[in-house]
Amino acid sequence: MRQSWTALGRRGVLAGAGALLALGAGDAPRAAVRTRAKILIIGAGAAGLAAANRLVHRLEGAEITLLDKRREHLYQPGFTLVAAGIKPRDYVLSTTREYLSSGLNLIEESAAEIDPVAKTVTTDAGRRLSYDFLIVATGLELHYEGIEGMDVSRIGQNGMGSIYAGPAQAEATWRAMSQFADRGGIGVFHRPATEMKCAGAPLKYAFLTEDALSRRGNRSRAELIYHAHNRALFSVPIVAEKVRMLYQQRGIPVNHEHVLTRIDLDRRIATFRTPQGEREQPYDFINVVPPMRAPAVVRNSPLAWRTGPWRAEGWAEVDRGTLRHVVFPEVFCVGDIAGVPKGKTAASVKWQVPVAVDHLVASIEGRSSAERYEGYTSCPLITRVGRALLVEFDYQDNLTPSFPGVIAPLEELWITWMMKVVGLKPTYLAMLRGRA
Ligand SMILES: Cc1cc2nc3c(=O)[nH]c(=O)nc-3n(C[C@H](O)[C@H](O)[C@H](O)COP(=O)(O)OP(=O)(O)OC[C@H]3O[C@@H](n4cnc5c(N)ncnc54)[C@H](O)[C@@H]3O)c2cc1C
Repeated sequence: MRQSWTALGRRGVLAGAGALLALGAGDAPRAAVRTRAKILIIGAGAAGLAAANRLVHRLEGAEITLLDKRREHLYQPGFTLVAAGIKPRDYVLSTTREYLSSGLNLIEESAAEIDPVAKTVTTDAGRRLSYDFLIVATGLELHYEGIEGMDVSRIGQNGMGSIYAGPAQAEATWRAMSQFADRGGIGVFHRPATEMKCAGAPLKYAFLTEDALSRRGNRSRAELIYHAHNRALFSVPIVAEKVRMLYQQRGIPVNHEHVLTRIDLDRRIATFRTPQGEREQPYDFINVVPPMRAPAVVRNSPLAWRTGPWRAEGWAEVDRGTLRHVVFPEVFCVGDIAGVPKGKTAASVKWQVPVAVDHLVASIEGRSSAERYEGYTSCPLITRVGRALLVEFDYQDNLTPSFPGVIAPLEELWITWMMKVVGLKPTYLAMLRGRA
């Protein structure tokens, strides 16, 4: 797949170092559309902020309100770096208000109920908000309770880490992993059987642990095992094969069709469901990755998929090309909450939001939009400190390299590492501000 340098600049790069290119690559200036539409956005994380900041520049006179109780903004792609001891905890912390353009309202409450027939949202404080257009950007729920015996308050203790739970837990995981890298033993890695955000993160953490052991001269004192939930290591076959080969080289055996169901945090035993029945796995260090699902406010609403594989987890039933709800056309769902086959990365947010925003603005103008989201997702898959693979793909599992001829996908490169540790965050912040 060949692209011009202009296209390369447009893609920007949550994938990585295109940060500098992407910073100047927002939408071309165009006349704002005058409207008195009421637009409500649930969730002021990556997708909610990006959508709000784009809309405020595309519309004049609209009432745009964000709803989110959380005051902190979490730069989640940095959690892996905190959990690897590469960045401090505050690298991933800021506040939502830093990214609010003037003209946006923020209500610091949670959505408790969505009624898409009445076009209202009720908050946990009992406030009832009406809308003309709704953007659902709630992200997802980490369902730690789905693992029997799991206790989030014990992350970092007794060899148990979990980088997903938040900045403090990512830091606590680093301490546990670092102790393990000093002593050796059995290190266990896995992923849940549900849809999940950044499916590369569990794989990266196994690589990073292996690297930490090697750097400290303790690799021979440790046994590392990766338990995959199905028969593949990654949803894109060519990437799965590459990771399999690298794991083989690095001495990380893989068990397939193993799903973590129970953990005994005192005895350090993880129990996996397998086709042959339950299997107990002792560990000295484990990175627990919880099952993930839609937050209850969406899962238990008419917006969730009504049939099919995403019904139980409650992802929003949207058209995969437009992110528009299939039953309620004034509702768009972007980011992790969208029930689409690929995505659940900040990189997908970057490509989904402009599409949904254009369709929303087109509805206000009474025109139709030709913009489509083709499933672009990317993951700078760290394989050791100083090296990463740039994995980019679409709904069809095609590799969609942003830098053909410059950065070979599926090659362990220093430049891809630099994208992850230097380029990604400025690009992400530009996206939040609606500029990338
Ligand atoms: C460990 C880890 C590593 C990652 N690595 C990468 C990476 O390398 N590259 C990459 O591109 N992506 C990565 N990601 C994924 C990326 O961070 C997410 O896909 C992205 O943040 C999704 O954006 P979002 O807006 O959908 O959700 P979020 O950014 O999580 O925001 C959701 C917001 O909704 C709010 N909310 C929830 N429920 C309600 C409610 N009822 N009412 C009001 N507000 C609500 C929350 O408080 C939150 O502020 C990683 C994530 C993790 C955890």
